[in-house]
Order: sequence, then C-alpha cells, then structure tokens
Amino acid sequence: MRVLVIDDDPFARSLLARQLSELAIQEVELVDSGEAALSRLARGMPAFDALIVDLNMPGMDGVQFLRHLARQRFRGGLVLVSGEDADILRSVAKLASARRLRVAGTLHKPIALESLGQALGAVPTFAESTVMGDMRRTYDEQDLRKAIATGQLVNFYQPQVRMIDGAVAGVEALVRWQHPDDGLVFPSDFIPLVEQSGLSDELAGAVLAGALRAARQWRGAGLELRVSVNVAMDNLFALDLPEKVVNAAAEAGVPAECVVLEITESQVTRDLDRLLDVATRLRLKRVGLAIDDFGTGYSSLAQLRDVPFDELKLDRSFVHGASSNPQLQAILRATLDMARQLGLRTVAEGVEDREDWDNLRDMACDFAQGYLIARPMPAEAILNWSSDWRAKGHQRLVKPQ
Ligand code: C2E
Ligand code: MG
Ligand code: MG
Repeated sequence: MRVLVIDDDPFARSLLARQLSELAIQEVELVDSGEAALSRLARGMPAFDALIVDLNMPGMDGVQFLRHLARQRFRGGLVLVSGEDADILRSVAKLASARRLRVAGTLHKPIALESLGQALGAVPTFAESTVMGDMRRTYDEQDLRKAIATGQLVNFYQPQVRMIDGAVAGVEALVRWQHPDDGLVFPSDFIPLVEQSGLSDELAGAVLAGALRAARQWRGAGLELRVSVNVAMDNLFALDLPEKVVNAAAEAGVPAECVVLEITESQVTRDLDRLLDVATRLRLKRVGLAIDDFGTGYSSLAQLRDVPFDELKLDRSFVHGASSNPQLQAILRATLDMARQLGLRTVAEGVEDREDWDNLRDMACDFAQGYLIARPMPAEAILNWSSDWRAKGHQRLVKPQ
C-alpha cells in the first residue's frame, strides 16, 4: 500500500512515518502542506492508495484540501486527523463523504497505533469500487447536448401516496441518462454539468414534455396523477416559464394544476424581483410550486416567506430513521407544524421502512414518497404498479378507520 502523509508539523510527520513502518507499510511519502500534496498528486504515478490528512494546517486547511481532492475525484482512502474535538472530525468526515470521497477513518491526535492500523485496514476494501470509480466516465457539454437532442434522457417516475388512505396522488419525474455505453447514468453524475453548461432550460423543457406525455397516457387509462418536475433555480429566471409550462400542459391535455415544479436552491438568489415575478405568475396559473429538500442546502425560512410555495418536501435526511432519533423528531415535528400553519401540502421523501411511515402518519404528514412505497420506475410501469398497490400494497400500511 502507498500512503501520502500531509501534515505541517514535522514532529507529527516523523511520528506517523515511524508508526507506518511499524505497520509494515513501506511506501510512504511525506509532505508539509495541502498545496504540496496537490502538486504531488498532479504528477500522477505512482498513485496513492490512501492519504493521511491533518485538518489543521496553515495555508490551505484540511477542509479546503478535501474540496480540491473531491474536484479531482480522488478515489483512494482518506484518514482524517485532528487535535480538535471529535464533533469537528465527524463533521468533516460527513462533508468528505457528501463529496463522494472515501473516508476510511478519523483519528484524534495523538494517534494510537492500533486505530491507525484499523483505519488503513479499511482501505483495501475500497479496491473493487476504486476500479468502478475510475471507469466511471465524466461527461462534457458536447455529450450532454447530444444526449438531450437525441432523446437519451429518459424520465423515471416515483409515486407519492396520501398517508391517510394510501391513495396514489402523484409522481415525481426523475431524469436518467440512458447512455449508449455506460448504461443508466444518475442525475448526480450530470446535473451539475447541466447547470454549469447553461443547459438547465433545455433539460427542464425535455423532462416536462416527457412527464406531460406520460401524464396524458395515464389519464387516458383512468389514472389522474399530479406530476412533479424538478427545476433548477436558474429556470425560474426565464420570464416566459409560466407561459411555457401552461402551454405545454394545455397541449398535452393535462390541467395546469396537475403540474408541480420542485425547486431546490443551488445558489444564493441573485435577483429576487425576477424570481417573484415568475413564481407568482406560475401560482396565478395554478401550477404548483414545491420547495424541495427542505432543511438542507440553501432552502430556508426566508424563501418560505418570500416565495409563494404551496408544497414542502421534507428532505430524506430528516425522514428516514427519525423515529429513533430525538433530534430528527424535533425537526420533523416543528417543520410539519410550520407547514400546516402556512397552509403548505407536505411530502416526506425517503420513506424507507414501516417505522418511517408510522412516524410520519402519526405526525399527520400529508404524502409519502420513498422506497417503502416504490422505487422510481419507467412510465410504462406506473399503471401496473398502481393497480397492485391499490389491490394489496397499501393495506399493510394504512390503518383501517
Ligand atoms: P430529489 O428531487 O430530492 O429526488 C429524490 C431522490 O431521492 C431521487 O434520486 C430518488 O430516487 C431518491 N429516493 C427516493 N426514495 C428514496 C428512499 O426511500 N431512500 C433513498 N435513500 N433515496 C430515495 P435521484 O433520482 O438520483 O435524483 C437525485 C436528485 O437529482 C433529485 O433529488 C433532484 O434534485 C435531481 N434531479 C432529478 N431529476 C432532475 C431533473 O429532471 N432536473 C433537475 N434539475 N434535477 C433533477
Ligand atoms: Mg425533487
Ligand atoms: Mg428532494
């Protein structure tokens, strides 16, 4: 195993070097800063299996360093080291995982040999997925334009059901890229590129059109569903968005009130006037507006105050497992209370098990979405799923009145 140690403190470096040799790890390099580590990694071969990173360094600190590593998609293991308290180490580890880095362990200084060995022991288990990670292609703007133009982007649909009676109320359209070589590519691997390339409007247009076509077909078969489509904040700056949505719905023969736009804020709002212009006109035309991933990122009370949302989607990080976590319970209860008082429809995402369902139902959440009910599926599968669900699926969840 090849290990790179990044620590500004010469004493800590030599101590680690000694410990690593006691663990019979021979190939070790030492650098004194994040900058030095990045330039060493940029030289490429030989590649490192693991990095041991001190979080407290002058110049580029450990958190900044991890940001750079994430951008380069470093696939090896990370061992995070700090003299700070355990909470901070835990938060940084969480941040690193959220950025898709692989954290093998967090160690408190002074480092015990045994915990160092344990952390590094977790690294080889990454080997298999490292190969996958390296094989995963990154895409560029050209690929993406072609995908949109040639219809390689397809919608999957995930049902939302009403918690009081299990009625199938709607679906959320979730885009996937049916890639000719790579198979089904998930949004996390291309949505950031969409936004960077200024292709948000094209994507939203394609997803909405697909969702409306599907909705039309389901209606034809007697299933009237609301369809929710994710849009980026950028889309809401196009002043003609309300007209586009309403026209597309009319053309498909689906009432505008059956369309919900889900908004996650990815940047701090630059132009509130414009946003409010578009948002209020959407609502005047009866198009639904949901605040997505509520409780995370930039979604905030200020947005709830300013933008005329009519639906609040609770992020799954507050939903799954809440019944056994008093902190999550408190957040859920307060958020649902607030939503009720503001007259917002509430939808819980990430309902994965019976406990999640019972917990939310007891708190009078309106709708549930998640693996317990159904995974996202192609449009053609919705009708069958819905009759199965009505026949038997929901009986195990809904209390007889
Ligand atoms: P989101 O809007 O919050 O969508 C929910 C995500 O949670 C979906 O992932 C869904 O498959 C997943 N999910 C559903 N139920 C469960 C569950 O019970 N447990 C867990 N762990 N996960 C569950 P997906 O499809 O990978 O989408 C990820 C994100 O990508 C979406 O988050 C949304 O922000 C974005 N996205 C998806 N489609 C579009 C789109 O058409 N346009 C834009 N701009 N963004 C999109
Ligand atoms: Mg969504
Ligand atoms: Mg969400």
